[in-house]
Parts: sequence; structure tokens; C-alpha cells
Amino acid sequence: MPESLRQKQSRFALMVALLLTETDNMGYSATLGEAYRSPEEAKRLAASGKGIVESLHCIRLAVDVNLFKQGVYLTKTEDYKPLGEWWESQGGSWGGRFTRADGNHFSLAHEGRK
Ligand SMILES: [Zn+2]
Repeated sequence: MPESLRQKQSRFALMVALLLTETDNMGYSATLGEAYRSPEEAKRLAASGKGIVESLHCIRLAVDVNLFKQGVYLTKTEDYKPLGEWWESQGGSWGGRFTRADGNHFSLAHEGRK
């Protein structure tokens, strides 16, 4: 039987647990950013040039994770590259590859959406 969206959401949640563990392994500390986003909020953000209407946040397949190194908040996409590459090695999609790079965005592709 093919994996349902519901099953995929739970697989993603477990992947995120490993992602957070990996931040610690790599010597970062992390805080959680946005996970679920309502369709209304996605529309509002897209209208202001942030994010997309069809965001994977709206179907619980994306999370934003904020990284810190020695207490300093990392804001550049390149700062997230080691973690992004690790995430890709686990089968995830990393926002650092987006045309409008979004380094702290980690998702699981669904029906061609990243
Ligand atoms: Zn995001």
C-alpha cells in the first residue's frame, strides 16, 4: 500500500527528531521555529513576498529550525549548509536550495512540492 499523507507526516516527525539530535551532534544549539502554518497565514505571507501559498508547512511536512553556535544566532543560509546536507542525506529537502534560499527550512517533498 502506498504511504498516505498521514503516514508521511509521522515519518517526517521522526525525521525531525533525528534532525534536532544531529544539531547537537554538530555542536549547535537549536530552537524551534514555525512548524504548522494555516493556509490563511501562507496566503498572507506569500502576498508579502515570503513563503509560498502551497507551503509544505500547511500540510505538516516542513519545519523551521533556528541554529546557534556558541550562543550566536546563525542567520545566513550558508551557516545551515552542513545540517542541510545531512538532512538531504536522510531523504529530506533543504530550503537552502530554493531559488529564494531559506536556510532554516527543512521539509519532506510531497507531490513535487518542496
Ligand atoms: Zn519554512
